[in-house]
Amino acid sequence: MSENHIHDMKDICVELLTERGVTLRDIAELVLFLQEQYVPNLTVDICLQNVERVLAKREVQNAIITGIQLDKLAEKKALDNPLLDILRNDEGLYGVDEIVALSIVNIYGSIGFTNYGYIDKVKPGILAKLNDKGTGECHTFLDDIVGAIAASASSRLAHSLAHLE
Ligand code: MG
Repeated sequence: MSENHIHDMKDICVELLTERGVTLRDIAELVLFLQEQYVPNLTVDICLQNVERVLAKREVQNAIITGIQLDKLAEKKALDNPLLDILRNDEGLYGVDEIVALSIVNIYGSIGFTNYGYIDKVKPGILAKLNDKGTGECHTFLDDIVGAIAASASSRLAHSLAHLE
């Protein structure tokens, strides 16, 4: 696989996220939310750099294109039941959305898991918007993926600072 193709995949993922209402800045703000109490003088730009690095990973790109595709098909009612209703209702016992998200968090070790669990409970910023059930949109996969990218970027940031000390 060429470098060029890998570069294209990241661009495609950024476009897909934007199309679904999530900017990289939204994700960077989640990272800031997770890390500002631990990292003095942390800026949204530093958070954004870490989000960009996470998005450069193939595993992350694969999770994004898979999850968003399923969300879009569910929104268009282009899936068969029972999957269609499960995704449109974001049924709690489904769990595959979380598994896809964990394939992202997995890359970054245990701090990533802790952050992912926390942000999924608190649902700050863009995550609250994605969880709004009254919009007619389906973000069953995307909310977990966005939380996982933020948790991974936080973990990456924490590790990089630990190396500087
Ligand atoms: Mg979900």
